[in-house]
Amino acid sequence: MNLTEADVQKIINSVITNIEKKLTDVVPTAAAASQAEPAKQAEVFSAVGEHGAFDRVEDAVKAAHQAQVHYIQNYKLEDREAMITAIRQATLSNKNELAQMIVTETKLGKLAHKLAKLELTATKTPGTEDLKTLAFSGDDGLTIVELGPFGVIGAVTPVTNPVETIINNSIGMIASGNAVVFNVHPSAKKCSAFAVQMINKAIVSAGGPANLVTMVKEPTKETLDQIVAAPETKLLVGTGGPGLVKALLSSGKKAIGAGAGNPPVVVDETADIENAAKEIIKGASFDNNILCIAEKEVFVVDSVADDLIYHMMNNGAYRLDQQELEQVMSFALEANEKQVARGCSLDTKRVYHTVKDWIGKDAMSFLNKLGINPGREIDLLICEVDFDHPFVQLEQMMPVLPIVRVKNLDEAIEMAVKAEHGNRHTAMMHSHNVNNLTRFARAIGTTIFVKNASSLAGVGFGGEGHTTMTIAGPTGEGLTSAKTFTRQRRCVLAEGAFRIV
Ligand code: NAD
Repeated sequence: MNLTEADVQKIINSVITNIEKKLTDVVPTAAAASQAEPAKQAEVFSAVGEHGAFDRVEDAVKAAHQAQVHYIQNYKLEDREAMITAIRQATLSNKNELAQMIVTETKLGKLAHKLAKLELTATKTPGTEDLKTLAFSGDDGLTIVELGPFGVIGAVTPVTNPVETIINNSIGMIASGNAVVFNVHPSAKKCSAFAVQMINKAIVSAGGPANLVTMVKEPTKETLDQIVAAPETKLLVGTGGPGLVKALLSSGKKAIGAGAGNPPVVVDETADIENAAKEIIKGASFDNNILCIAEKEVFVVDSVADDLIYHMMNNGAYRLDQQELEQVMSFALEANEKQVARGCSLDTKRVYHTVKDWIGKDAMSFLNKLGINPGREIDLLICEVDFDHPFVQLEQMMPVLPIVRVKNLDEAIEMAVKAEHGNRHTAMMHSHNVNNLTRFARAIGTTIFVKNASSLAGVGFGGEGHTTMTIAGPTGEGLTSAKTFTRQRRCVLAEGAFRIV
């Protein structure tokens, strides 16, 4: 048979077309997938779990593992960024529904502040721009240090920022080429499932693979144990109290622990007292004080204490008298009869714990319970107490801020360091004296130290820098972002191989 050049070209073209078709059937690249109808893709990708939410934890791990292997082999950095943009947009489009779901399910905090946190995580969580390659070049050639993924990450989320942590962790973990399996807080499993499904749909609609983000629908400590033990899980990230952090750090696997805080505020005599009062109220009343960074106790130098209290009362605070304070303690605290550890400490000998029903409730609910009508909107309750008071020592997560009057800065620093219980989480100081600020910052050594502003500035809310919902104090990574979830890989090109002799 005689074949002309045109015949040969025709055969080659047909073979190439067939191969291309097979490849797009098997491996949907970001570009190809983004041309397909989003609904159709979602159907194909959600065959196993429901958009990332699985009945069985082993399926959640397996699906995340398959997705990650596929992701790292077939998608470029710009594809990752397209998926992250889709997650940001989905969060902003669904923020009202998400915020309402969080409040309804967890019964903690304020709707407006859930919205603010969702906006913050959607817009200020770093993406792939966070991954910087380090390069050394010289006579001996070129060496680069790249940031590569771990693989599958097992992540645990708190009830206090359930959806916000899922969105924030997912963006950072996907940006760095990982997949993530969440063991969410059981008291927030519905809104968490909604968030995981929303994220999966967003990723798929941007041409990405299904199941980069998964969870088990009914999370328990046993499902967490399974995630931890799974050989596919290469890194653990825990956001919550000290019990969780301890459990993850005892696992034998690499773990990033973001634990509890009990952030103190110091106010000295050089501060702008009115500004200090406003900023303390802003931070301490935000989301009814359930944030780990929130101002939990104040140490104010005696000479300006009355001034501070006066300005706080003028800016949304109600001062509890001794009798009212005792009434609040009678319903919002309970004796630690079973000698168990809770809150910000593993100490089993604590005399009191906070009553769960009062955590994250608003200040007006406390006043209603006391039968007080203040005649104006109140954001925060304040009370003057001694250092040993349980409201100072507990991470109570209620809008009740204890104020301790101190002789001088030395006493303020000493007490604040003790009240922080060595968590090295967050501290604030209001002062115009740089030496004083430096003294307290050095003494307390917290992961976040905010000067002359509310705690919120420490996570990029009215302060510079990126945001995170996972502040890794115990393990030292600080305010986590994409680069935190990476492994360093050194790649060396030695000059000797090219030397001309
Ligand atoms: P929590 O410790 O009760 O629960 C957090 C998560 O850990 C949940 O998913 C829970 O099911 C799981 N968990 C708890 N104890 C565990 C154990 N012993 N073994 C295995 N899993 C366990 O905390 P929470 O009430 O959900 O959240 C509030 C706490 O989290 C506060 O102490 C707060 O300071 C802290 N927090 C820290 C950060 C941070 O970035 N450092 C952020 C948010 C909240």
